Amino acid sequence: MDSPYDVEEGGLAYIEAMESLPLPQTRLLRTAIPGPTSTTLHAERVQQVSSGFGVALPVFIDRAEGGILQDVDGNRIIDFASGIAVTSVGASNPLVQARVRDQLARFTHTCFMVTEYDSFTAVCEWLNTHTPGDFEKRTALFSTGAEAVENAIKIARAATGREKILVFDDAYHGRSLLTMAMTAKENPYKTSFGPFPGEVHRAPMAAPLRWPGGAENATAEALAGVEAVLTAQGADTFAAMVIEPIQGEGGFIVPAPGFLAGLRDIAARHGIVFVLDEIQAGMGRTGRMFASEYEGVAGDLVVTGKALGGGLPLTAVTGRVELMNAVHAGGLGGTYAGNPLACAAALGVFEAFETGDLLAGALRIEDTVRRVLEPLVTEDSPIVEFRGRGAMLAIEFADAVTLEPRPLLAAAVAARCHAQGVLILVCGTYGNVIRLLPPLVIGRELLEDGLAVLVQAIASVYAESTVGSTAASTAASTAASAVGAAAARA
Ligand code: PMP
Repeated sequence: MDSPYDVEEGGLAYIEAMESLPLPQTRLLRTAIPGPTSTTLHAERVQQVSSGFGVALPVFIDRAEGGILQDVDGNRIIDFASGIAVTSVGASNPLVQARVRDQLARFTHTCFMVTEYDSFTAVCEWLNTHTPGDFEKRTALFSTGAEAVENAIKIARAATGREKILVFDDAYHGRSLLTMAMTAKENPYKTSFGPFPGEVHRAPMAAPLRWPGGAENATAEALAGVEAVLTAQGADTFAAMVIEPIQGEGGFIVPAPGFLAGLRDIAARHGIVFVLDEIQAGMGRTGRMFASEYEGVAGDLVVTGKALGGGLPLTAVTGRVELMNAVHAGGLGGTYAGNPLACAAALGVFEAFETGDLLAGALRIEDTVRRVLEPLVTEDSPIVEFRGRGAMLAIEFADAVTLEPRPLLAAAVAARCHAQGVLILVCGTYGNVIRLLPPLVIGRELLEDGLAVLVQAIASVYAESTVGSTAASTAASTAASAVGAAAARA
């Protein structure tokens, strides 16, 4: 049967039967990807949806569970994206589903600014308890990451009476006007959307791979660069310094060791609110609940989102009580901020972390991926770095000598993976980074199958590219033996 929706082929019966079963955790190609039903639906979408929305892979999803996305043509695609780091506990986590189902039956919305419900308080309590920082905290809930980042700025401004904001090279903080201003990359995020709010200043990010003075000097030199920007602009005019503990859209850049701690000290010295944007890296993604724990650093404010709501829109700002309570009553809020269904989902997410060993799961993912992908970084390979933590991992494509970015290689590899039923995403300021964000619950065999497809895609793209025949064949055989070794250990 070509399509499960093809009634004449008995498709609907097939779907109904499948719905009562767990989704098999294996890759399955029933049609080309995208298949005929997805292709038809995509054509309809083009007639109805603004072309301003892009799409990484134009397949339409029917069900999702564990590490599998099942599309409307019956293909089972390996999910290395988690809806951009959202479905970390799985897209059909039963703990999340049970709580949301129960909440749905009771009520969907009151608006927390109108009448209250205690799941909102419970989510705030969990975040106050679990975010780094041994000080009294309060939390405010919102719906989107950009909204939460903007509210962190509102809070920092209200608390300090200052206006300026310090952000970093390669940063991503959202698509609203202020967060676009805070985001570094012009295209596609900012092009034609200005003018942007002022008072946003950018400082160097201690990115080890491309630091001009060498990785070992990145922390000290970048911190000096930060001080220079603050001095030039007037350090005591800055309300907030905002940084991702591992940069997401900017290319999964892990700051050089000591950089985050150095920033925290600079911020403290100048009375600047230190804000950690953990929207992508937080909530267990890196193998710790918060990525900044690796550096032993707490934010005065920490912003969470994505995986927090287990797929329902929920974000938060958590921080020092004196900052969070510096805002006048009524100054924070939003119609859907901390919606009851989203709070119920978050409580299910917390339960999933408490009952399952998901942080260890993230570290196991890192171990498996590292063993397969790290050997591909050789002297003459266009994969110049393997980086990241836990289940937030990436490889960067660039010229092995000059580090000139190779975005076409990354795009070609991604396209081949997609055709083979493995969903991977590209990111980075230069679009030359392949990032892996599997759900933390992905099974080992599925992970290894997806990695084998990725490695084969790399080898075949090398073989056809201008990389050079020696480098290509070395890379291809390194890749093949890495997969073999990983499979042998499985
Ligand atoms: N900050 C970071 C670090 C992010 O990764 C994102 C989303 N990719 C955002 C902010 C914005 O979140 P949202 O898309 O929910 O507005």
